[in-house]
Amino acid sequence: MTANLDDAREILRHTFGHADFRGLQAPVIAEMLAGRNALAVLPTGGGKSVCYQIPALLRPGVGLVVSPLIALMSDQVEALRQLGVKAARMDSGLAPEERDATWRKLSAGQLDLIYLSPEGLMQPYALERLSAAPLAVLAVDEAHCVSQWGHDFRPEYRALGRLAEIFPDVPRLAVTATADARTRADIRSELRLEGAAEFVASFARPELALNAERKRTKPHDRVAALVKARPGRSGIVYSGSRDGTEKLAERLAAEGVAAKAYHAGLDKSVRNDRLNWFLGEEEAVMVATIAFGMGIDKPDVRFVIHADPPGAIEAYWQEIGRAGRDGDLAEGVTLYSAADMSWALERIRRRDMPPEAAQVQMRKVRQLYAMLEGPTCRAAAVRRYFGESDVAPCGQCDRCLHPPKGVEVTEAAQKALSAVHRLGGRFGRGRLVEHLLGKTKGVSESEAAMSTYGVGKEFSPGGWRDLIDQLLFEGLLAEDPNDGRPLIGLADPDGVRAVYRGERRLTVLHAPEAHDSTSRSGRPKRRGEAAADLSGEALGLFDALRAWRRAEAARQGLPPYVIFHDQTLADIAVARPRNRDALADINGVGAGKLDRYGAAVLAVVGDQ
Ligand code: ADP
Ligand code: ZN
Repeated sequence: MTANLDDAREILRHTFGHADFRGLQAPVIAEMLAGRNALAVLPTGGGKSVCYQIPALLRPGVGLVVSPLIALMSDQVEALRQLGVKAARMDSGLAPEERDATWRKLSAGQLDLIYLSPEGLMQPYALERLSAAPLAVLAVDEAHCVSQWGHDFRPEYRALGRLAEIFPDVPRLAVTATADARTRADIRSELRLEGAAEFVASFARPELALNAERKRTKPHDRVAALVKARPGRSGIVYSGSRDGTEKLAERLAAEGVAAKAYHAGLDKSVRNDRLNWFLGEEEAVMVATIAFGMGIDKPDVRFVIHADPPGAIEAYWQEIGRAGRDGDLAEGVTLYSAADMSWALERIRRRDMPPEAAQVQMRKVRQLYAMLEGPTCRAAAVRRYFGESDVAPCGQCDRCLHPPKGVEVTEAAQKALSAVHRLGGRFGRGRLVEHLLGKTKGVSESEAAMSTYGVGKEFSPGGWRDLIDQLLFEGLLAEDPNDGRPLIGLADPDGVRAVYRGERRLTVLHAPEAHDSTSRSGRPKRRGEAAADLSGEALGLFDALRAWRRAEAARQGLPPYVIFHDQTLADIAVARPRNRDALADINGVGAGKLDRYGAAVLAVVGDQ
């Protein structure tokens, strides 16, 4: 008899310790159990892995999972073993004896799940061994890596299309957290999933409170202030350069924050140490380039700060999405500037790629800045970008909490555009502002005689800089990076003409003074943070459980959250279970964890 959803729910409860399916998990699993192919797009933290793990446990044979990174695989395999699932990974880092032992287990039918990298899987020897074993399901994780339109293209993913011929009778599932319609179409054709059902979840992440702000003169000061306003929490700060991560991490450490840098230029062993430090510490702040990326699924990351903006909305959602995976409230703050946008566009221009692909990439950059600069709810803007319709405002981003006021600046914009025109695009932002204010040092006679010289006394220098940024974001001006000494020139002649004629009106947004991401008033209530609602006695027990978890994690050399999530410990602290049955009722306590830790947890509860 084939397994059905009731069997699946039973495993979800018993083995994984979750009360019921979330989002689209149930229909995706049903499709797998029926032996059909599927494509599932679920947001980060949406619970993609049980979509293939449960069918792998229910269908005869082993579940094969293709995953792009070793770190990602070892995390998942460890988490599964903790649940009592027989999981293994096969990667180049293993000793030959270990590989042999794993292949033997596979042949003897002693594995529920096996994880491989795409390169590892496509080796003739691996394919031969796997073809000889019955396969329950074949899952391709992070499937967007197959698309060169996406932001994470990995050429080795291309070979995975052959799996359709090699394993024609095994149901295949492609899962990803970010895929616009075009990437989805690519996944279908590259992975030969033509007839597969498609499941696209809402991209809503109600636990994320989003903020974005333009960079001011000293961005590192700002980042330090933002981090220090969030003490005792774990977070990630993304920086655009290796050097930036080092400097920021030093700066934060000097100010007493537990912070370390992470980038691809560091030794592999240093990177591993720092990754493990981050995963193991409850209050660690990692200052990283995007090399610190996929597979960072520490559940209690409470904030992600972009000291430099991401490359596209896909990357934004994925990077921000690393916060709040445990479902508790988390924050994202993005700092950005017009210069960042110019550089992003310039980098695409310099890359060797077909013009059509370059255009797609540039449009993605513009869409990101349109969201950052836009007046409407940030979460809603992202969800619309991913193709959702009828999305409601989130109610907790900076735009929702403090709707900005638009101030008409068309006349000032005319002055700025005509100053750029007169100056012939030979100067940068600073000189342009001096010109408008009539304060150019050692001004030449010809410049002083220009009709735009000193014509802009109505704004402060900061006001003009904001307006010039606005014109850059709107594409009316363009910045030539000029190797670090940027020059500003006119762009989009039709648009500029329309502004001159007054046909196109311009407004700048002024966020009300009340909004400040570092201040309490600007921050959402600490809804849901696991311990936030605990009172005296329960709080004491929660702390005792955390101390036990820390010791247990250290003993096994594992991150604490692999043992139990904060939320589970908080639930235990409130319920004070006195026996195994009562403990088993708590969300996050499955049979495997009950066997491993039940007695120890009950002892901690009994002691308090
Ligand atoms: P992702 O989609 O990002 O790969 P995971 O599969 O790692 O997400 O799941 C994210 C978190 O959600 C994990 O901590 C997992 O235990 C939890 N989770 C998954 N499914 C459920 C569920 N049905 N109920 C409660 N928690 C769940
Ligand atoms: Zn909002």
